[in-house]
Amino acid sequence: MDCIFCKIVAGQIPSDVVYTDDRVIAFRDINPMAPVHLLIIPREHIVSLNDITERETPLLGHMVQVSKQLAKQQGVGTKGYRVVINCGSQGGQVVQHLHMHLLGGRELSGGLG
Ligand code: AMP
Repeated sequence: MDCIFCKIVAGQIPSDVVYTDDRVIAFRDINPMAPVHLLIIPREHIVSLNDITERETPLLGHMVQVSKQLAKQQGVGTKGYRVVINCGSQGGQVVQHLHMHLLGGRELSGGLG
């Protein structure tokens, strides 16, 4: 499959992995928008939030739990952080493998784009 994030999951291209378990992995964004900018992704290839059904809802909940845990581990849990999922072209999704951005370590604007 020609998916860059699947290749990261498979270890076929390098990435700065900060967390793994049986369902998800998290790594540093290659083009960070904040001092802490991680991507939390499912190991399974799911294109976007539009593909989340009841079956995958626990996985999404797990991704939220991992993001909270990583925010704490990265030292931004108390000061604050932002979790974002872009969906579709107008939603700003570039990589067609579901991912959650975790941003922190600077004052993030109140605007949502
Ligand atoms: P999105 O616009 O929500 O699809 O975000 C995709 C994100 O993936 C962007 O922030 C990119 O900088 C990031 N990205 C793309 N390729 C890589 C890679 N090989 N390693 C780490 N992050 C990547």
